[in-house]
Amino acid sequence: MKRPDFMALALKEAEAAALRGEVPVGAVIASGGTVVASAGNRTRELADPTAHAEMLAIREACRKLSAERLTGHDLYVTLEPCAMCAGAISFARLRRLYFGAADEKGGAVVNGVRFFTSPTCHHVPDIYPGMAETEAAVLLKGFFRERRD
Ligand SMILES: [Zn+2]
Repeated sequence: MKRPDFMALALKEAEAAALRGEVPVGAVIASGGTVVASAGNRTRELADPTAHAEMLAIREACRKLSAERLTGHDLYVTLEPCAMCAGAISFARLRRLYFGAADEKGGAVVNGVRFFTSPTCHHVPDIYPGMAETEAAVLLKGFFRERRD
């Protein structure tokens, strides 16, 4: 699989999350052209504020590998990660972070606390913002518009 395909799969996870009534964010963890884990937000379903797409994908990948670190693995997520997920990405030692839409309200990579620039952050992935940004943003806008109407 090529990189855009991983993001396409993350977008599918985001769409599936929207259908479940969750905020539409999806994440994929890949290594060497293979999907290791994929997930969408499940905070409502699991009644768990930590059940963000990135957290669920990281947990699944670590479980599969029986490892606490995902060295050499890449994360694709449709929305800029929040502070919690940025922390988890760093702890997991993920190699690259590809994300779609920037999140002015909740993001912590290019917005907010910019976690990866903090001196207390001990592992910084290579960061590639803006991948499939438009598609990810359209999904989110549609979701929040529907909830308002
Ligand atoms: Zn998060």
